Amino acid sequence: LVVLGIETSCDDTAAAVVRGNGEILSQVVSSQADLLAQYGGVAPKMAEEAHLQVIDQVVQEALDKAKLTERNLSAIAVTIGPGLGLCLRVGVRKARKIAGSFNLPIIGVHHMEAHALVARLNERELQFPFMALLISGGHNLLILARDLGQYIQLGTTIDDAIGEAYDKTAKWLGLDLRRSGGPAIEELAREGDAKSIKFSTPMKQHKDCNFSYAGLKTQVRLAIESKNINATIPISSANSEDRRTRADIAASFQRVAVLHLEERCERAIEWALKIEPSVKYLVVSGGVASNQYVRARLDQVVQRNSLRLVCPPPSLCTDNGVMVAWTGIENFRMGRFDPPPPADEPEDIVYDLRPRWPLGEEYVEGRSEAR
Ligand code: ATP
Ligand code: FE
Repeated sequence: LVVLGIETSCDDTAAAVVRGNGEILSQVVSSQADLLAQYGGVAPKMAEEAHLQVIDQVVQEALDKAKLTERNLSAIAVTIGPGLGLCLRVGVRKARKIAGSFNLPIIGVHHMEAHALVARLNERELQFPFMALLISGGHNLLILARDLGQYIQLGTTIDDAIGEAYDKTAKWLGLDLRRSGGPAIEELAREGDAKSIKFSTPMKQHKDCNFSYAGLKTQVRLAIESKNINATIPISSANSEDRRTRADIAASFQRVAVLHLEERCERAIEWALKIEPSVKYLVVSGGVASNQYVRARLDQVVQRNSLRLVCPPPSLCTDNGVMVAWTGIENFRMGRFDPPPPADEPEDIVYDLRPRWPLGEEYVEGRSEAR
């Protein structure tokens, strides 16, 4: 089994070829980091344009690096949601074009399911049911994965995701945005005193597993204003006192942002064990899961509860084609795929895209389960 995975849901154009046994034959990511830095966020039309410019090349490179042609593939997996419709379309059109020409089945993949399932690629002991904390720029999800395609959502964000808070904090602190904000904050935070600024932990009074990062973002912005930090002066040009202040804010922000994750995970573990007492693993994935501090803190939580933490390697935590190919493989094995599209499918056809697509049903503590 050899599957090509294509991912264009947000700002990265990615493709990869993966074998049924989990062997990664190739992995290519083209990022729009420069565009992001220039415009300070993702503009859908521009992101679509950027995907269109590189998609053919990214897919070709993935095949070349794998030393394969389309004829060697068993199926094509492509992200169909959630994400920006215009962007999803670029990947889906490309996938269907190849599938149509080479008579290949197609698997439509849920981006967040892919973030979770990729953990199973390296960790063969990771069986269902397991828990997953999925933390990225657009999502903050706590789920219980009971089986392939069967997820219970224990918690989600009521406003922003943690990655968004990292990105904004980085921007306001004048960090180098040619790479994403998360790694820049992680690095600067190592120089700072995490206890120096007292940010309050979100949603203390809500005894559930939901998240909120909008309030923390505001607290950070106010702290930055009150310390007179000038974000137009890049950190590289800041004097040592200024740099120290910025590092203190980065460290204090990170401590509370992650504390919020810790508290929610602690409760989610209780909930999950009530539903599925055999849960042994917490998967942490999505871009923010590449953060070493995040991993170390969550490892403590998991150990206290006699579970095990599984984090994919950083390159598989941020958006990538491998996770899409792998999720395609898992579904293909269960017979979940679409037949090849017609070779002459018109390009202006309405595809099955799911820009908003919840992963499983919501769990409400106290309400007995439907199933
Ligand atoms: P999604 O649709 O899954 O929400 P996304 O487009 O945000 O996807 P990901 O690649 O999954 O993409 O996650 C990117 C986010 O991860 C960004 O907000 C980025 O700042 C954050 N991130 C990446 N590395 C780190 C890190 N080391 N520490 C903190 N945050 C990080
Ligand atoms: Fe993602």
